[in-house]
Amino acid sequence: MHIDIDKDVCIGAGQCALTAPDVFTQDDDGYSALLPGHEDGAGSPLVREAARACPVSAITVSETVS
Ligand code: SF4
Repeated sequence: MHIDIDKDVCIGAGQCALTAPDVFTQDDDGYSALLPGHEDGAGSPLVREAARACPVSAITVSETVS
């Protein structure tokens, strides 16, 4: 799984960090960031929910074929 955060779109609403706190956090400016080591979503089922929860659809989740 690959998670992409479009920081040009992110408005720092924090919904992703609230929805999937295991994967998302907020940087010093309040924008969404991925926790170190969790760039692949860490298998969390909440990642897609977090992507849906984002009010500006800044999060893209894609399946990576290994
Ligand atoms: S929910 Fe969306 S707008 Fe809010 S911090 Fe996360 S990525 Fe940014």
